[in-house]
Amino acid sequence: MQMGLHESGKQQRISETPLILAVEDNEDNLLIINYVVDSLSCRFIGEANGKKTLEIARESQPNLILLDIMLPETNGIDLFHELKKDISTSHIPVIAVTALARSEEKKRILDAGFNAYISKPYMLEEIEELICRHLNLK
Ligand code: MN
Repeated sequence: MQMGLHESGKQQRISETPLILAVEDNEDNLLIINYVVDSLSCRFIGEANGKKTLEIARESQPNLILLDIMLPETNGIDLFHELKKDISTSHIPVIAVTALARSEEKKRILDAGFNAYISKPYMLEEIEELICRHLNLK
């Protein structure tokens, strides 16, 4: 398939395809999210290094961020605050994807302002439904 510069119609459609950024240090979990995003025909960026979250979000302007909470050297709640403080990323919805299942942890995450919360392990249908709801798909 040619992707010439003059195919502006096609370029336009590609740029309208929702882009999802997933930050997750576990490779298997990242593959699962990649699989779900592919099945929804969305574009995907997976990143294992949480410290790159803000930089990647600024550059790629995803439509939705799936953010792991337990990350080496940082944590999803601090990253969430960084994203919300930056004017170029503050509008992007963020879903916490975390194994922190206790109710006080869930409350802490939602109180921080995350758009939603999903706990690992989750059913594929659950995360698919969450993604669709936040992108207004289907
Ligand atoms: Mn993790």
